[in-house]
Amino acid sequence: MKPLPRLPTVRDLIKLYGLGAKSQLGQNFILDKNVTDKIVRCADISDPDSAVLEVGPGPGLLTRSLLETGVRAVIAVEKDARFLPSLNQLADATDSRLKIINEDVLKLDYAQVLEALNTHTVPGSPVQTLHIMGNLPFNIATPLLLQWLHALSTSSGIFGHMNTSFTLMFQKELAERLVAPPGTGNRGRLSITVQSLCHAKMAYQLPSTSFVPRPKVDAGVVHLTPRPTSLLQVPLSSLEYVMRFFFSYRRKTLGRIIKNLDAQYLPWLDACDLDPQLRPQDLTNEQANQLAKVVIESKVAL
Ligand code: SAM
Repeated sequence: MKPLPRLPTVRDLIKLYGLGAKSQLGQNFILDKNVTDKIVRCADISDPDSAVLEVGPGPGLLTRSLLETGVRAVIAVEKDARFLPSLNQLADATDSRLKIINEDVLKLDYAQVLEALNTHTVPGSPVQTLHIMGNLPFNIATPLLLQWLHALSTSSGIFGHMNTSFTLMFQKELAERLVAPPGTGNRGRLSITVQSLCHAKMAYQLPSTSFVPRPKVDAGVVHLTPRPTSLLQVPLSSLEYVMRFFFSYRRKTLGRIIKNLDAQYLPWLDACDLDPQLRPQDLTNEQANQLAKVVIESKVAL
């Protein structure tokens, strides 16, 4: 840990700049440095050639914890311009290792991120790993994660240039779905989508009292490490299409679901060596991908 120069506390900055939380931007702040340090430890940022992409730095306490790791650069994307003065102050105090992009992350042009990373490239030693991090605004968490997973599945944008990992805070119920193993009640199509591309683990759980203002629900930090080779056998959108169909009948067995569609498709199960008594939530990641391949190859509209 490299301590930063003395700065006003984040609580004081919030008061000074009148940064009342806006619920429409999912603003629930963490004001306890022990908590932000712990989130950063979940990311395991040990490689000196790594950088961070942080979504929604807000008043910047998690950003401070990230900069203290000595990471080469933190590229922070924040939609709410009210935070720019306090973030700029932090950038000045850290030799511009912090680069702020004032944008909606859902519309972000990732060329800007690559350009910012280039300015932090030591000749002969490019940034090797990008840690994608954030206490995500709850209202965009799922579409944002899916946007990243689609890019990861085709190695496009930032995912074609370097190793990546994700350490992200979600509402607890969503975090539990992302990491749910086969045969558990939280298992859904999002679990299969995520786990087909990444190893997923719940790294840290926080009660709602850790946030200001206090949200209605608790939260969980999920750590995702991309698999060296994904389990996909069809494009990710096709896997989602097939899983959306099966999980819309999540209480029925696979045999029943297919019979209701048309009994002539029951051989799909034999082709995947699947027991007709299984339910969608019982499918392993590998079985789900195999089933998606067989269904897509049959060209049947679901
Ligand atoms: N990182 C801070 C913390 O942990 O205290 C703030 C987290 S708060 C849950 C979410 C942050 O994301 C807010 O600063 C909010 O303004 C920002 N935000 C919301 N929607 C955004 C979007 N579409 N693009 C970029 N930032 C967004």
